[in-house]
Amino acid sequence: MHTNSHIEINQNALQNNIDFLKKLYGKKVILSSVVKGNAYGHGIPEFVRSAFSCGVTHFSVFDADEARAVKKELQDKVSILIMGFVSDEDIFWAIENNVSFYVFDKIRMQKTIKIAKKLNKKATIHIEVETGMNRTGFEKSELLWVSKMLKENTDTLIFEGLCTHFAGAESVSNFYRIEKQISNFTTAETFFRKENLVPNIKHSACSAASIMFPETRMDLVRIGIMQYGLWSSPEVFVHYLNSKKIKKDPLQRIISWKSEVMSVKKVNPGDYIGYGTSFMASEKMKVAVIPVGYSHGYSRSLSNHGRVLINGKRCMVIGTVNMNMLTVNVSDLETVKKGDEAVLIGNQEDISISIASFSDFSNTLNYELLTRLDKGIPRKII
Ligand SMILES: *Cc1c(COP(=O)(O)O)cnc(C)c1O
Repeated sequence: MHTNSHIEINQNALQNNIDFLKKLYGKKVILSSVVKGNAYGHGIPEFVRSAFSCGVTHFSVFDADEARAVKKELQDKVSILIMGFVSDEDIFWAIENNVSFYVFDKIRMQKTIKIAKKLNKKATIHIEVETGMNRTGFEKSELLWVSKMLKENTDTLIFEGLCTHFAGAESVSNFYRIEKQISNFTTAETFFRKENLVPNIKHSACSAASIMFPETRMDLVRIGIMQYGLWSSPEVFVHYLNSKKIKKDPLQRIISWKSEVMSVKKVNPGDYIGYGTSFMASEKMKVAVIPVGYSHGYSRSLSNHGRVLINGKRCMVIGTVNMNMLTVNVSDLETVKKGDEAVLIGNQEDISISIASFSDFSNTLNYELLTRLDKGIPRKII
């Protein structure tokens, strides 16, 4: 556990985002909150607890460990869907605990049937079909086999979902590829319907697809980045705004990351600050040291680029970001002392550091930056 910084989850902002999304998609569409990657760095326990009080009752995760983390926090009050990795032992666990999971290849299908038989309990599965991302999913040529399995194993399998994932719906340059994927998905769905196999839930949309291609919303949307108050890309945001009279961002960032000044010192012109020679003081300067570094998830690429809020002013990161510390130019601050609050992401008085500005500097996607936030940093809901 690191006590040198902490992360705050703003429940009011989350409620705003969830309300906005639910209204956008309508009552008939299930909002599944995607909490893989430790809830995009927000922290699974705190985030899902907060999301549950905001009315979310469906969560999607990457693997069984994350599913366990959600289960531990919310027990049987919510539905959980594993979209990615499940080991053989995890299949046992998932079936026993009513956690549904993707089946995207023959091996997993056979394992699932075998284990469900052994447990004498039905597995709730989502059949993922390959539509053009070429990552996971049954090929078109395998669908007849899948259909046969589903029909022959109604005592062990519940065909709850039919799904796919798009290969970059956040960028207009992928438009043709996504359109082709949508059409391939319709073909698969038609195939199953002709086989008299109708899943309860058809789903395909992530945040970007739900905005750029509304027809992909179907019965359930798997929403990650937008619930955290960020857009998948500037293109998606602009696309949304174009359809609106009021040009205002309806989403609010819910995360803040705060630390404090550990030490302050004065340096003279010509002095280098930190390792090497990446920053030289050209005049008398005041430097504050913050006990946060790349080991906590503050990217090294923010060396000489990042900004930190101290005493209501935006201060530049100077020198290289170290493993556990970074240095900030506080020459413009009249007073600054050990213990003053340092905001790495979030607001101080009327100024803010958004994650987007942060990641523009570092050329890192919002996604990557958030998920790098160390698990050991304490999180709290405010
Ligand atoms: C991560 C993920 C999502 C959510 O993506 P966002 O862009 O964050 O909304 C949806 N579906 C799958 C399969 C994913 O892996």
